[in-house]
Amino acid sequence: MSAFDIAVRRARLRGAGKPLQDIAIGGGRIAAIGERLSGGAATEIDARGGIATESFVNPHLHLCKVYTLFMTDDEAARAYHGAGMRQAMSAIELAARVKAKYDERWIIDNVRRALALAALYGTTHVRAFADVDGKARLEGVRALLRAREEFKGMVDVQVVAFAQDGLAREPGAAALMREAMALGADVVGGIPWIERTAADTAAHIAFCFELAREFDRDVSMLVDDAGDAGLRTLEAMAAEAVKRGWQNRALAHHARAMALYSDLEKVIPLMREARMSLVTDPHTGPLHARVKELLAGGVNVCLGQDDISDSFYPFGRNNMLEVAFLAAHLLWMTTRPEMETLYDMVTTRAAQAIGVPEHTLQVGAPANLVVLEAPDVLEALREHAAPLAVVSHGKLIDQARMRHEAAAV
Ligand SMILES: [Zn+2]
Repeated sequence: MSAFDIAVRRARLRGAGKPLQDIAIGGGRIAAIGERLSGGAATEIDARGGIATESFVNPHLHLCKVYTLFMTDDEAARAYHGAGMRQAMSAIELAARVKAKYDERWIIDNVRRALALAALYGTTHVRAFADVDGKARLEGVRALLRAREEFKGMVDVQVVAFAQDGLAREPGAAALMREAMALGADVVGGIPWIERTAADTAAHIAFCFELAREFDRDVSMLVDDAGDAGLRTLEAMAAEAVKRGWQNRALAHHARAMALYSDLEKVIPLMREARMSLVTDPHTGPLHARVKELLAGGVNVCLGQDDISDSFYPFGRNNMLEVAFLAAHLLWMTTRPEMETLYDMVTTRAAQAIGVPEHTLQVGAPANLVVLEAPDVLEALREHAAPLAVVSHGKLIDQARMRHEAAAV
């Protein structure tokens, strides 16, 4: 009988100038790290000097919409990306047309394909949004809840019940949101900037936090996702989190209007007080949150895939190294320390943002890790290749099977 389930041999650890290390895994956890560990394993992996790190975490994916681009035209993307993002609202209205056809039975096939890609590329945790409104009804939520069970132990899916088209704007959405949470959704998802009046925006934020309290769940909100410096729902959300004691349980996404703010003096301390992280997706829109200033101000920032072939963005492979590679250009984070930060933004920082506990490559931690062929972070970003091996919850991912499943649909 082997001493360990899995042994990774001759791996390089990030930032360590030390000799190559072995990582032993047993009972779902990292059992030992050291030079030339003794004791055999049922599965032996030779890293050949490639880096071994925490697995990737995708904190933002519109999973119910993946591959729906093939059912629509280019109108929504044109409105979202054009004219300084001032028409982002009409882009969301155009994109909503596909939801008239929503049916759990075809959505699930697309979801499986995207999650197979996640596993193949070493992403073990995903925060996934499912639209909840009069058109989508609960079809997306049901598909994601089903996929969450199917991929258990490989890719952990946090299902966000997401009021994409608003609450005041979309009669009946509030009741459907409550129903989605009762069905088992993990996170309450809002989009307050989309409402028509300040009163409706405030009510939207209040409703999401009320629902989160009712079901004891975290909140994720898409804020200020348009080219309008007057959008300030990020601050309203952070203030609400503080007021309701939901620190560290409210996650902000996008905040693209921040690119147009004249200063961040009010925003950064408020986000720190709310212990609110921000997910940015610079490849899916021309305006970006002010990542470097937020990081310098002590706010946790991470990167998300956001979309895979939907009305808003045509590409995407659920490959977080690819997302970080694109962000390196769009945010101009190209120095060695900045590349290390980008890597954190798709691993440990993303894990912190969505509440994945103990996401660290240390003895005793859950064994969620990737072994790359690249010897360092620079090469990992350059190639953004699939890992040599992916370990999720202590078990080796069958990457050949995942590649087949991703291509099979
Ligand atoms: Zn998004």
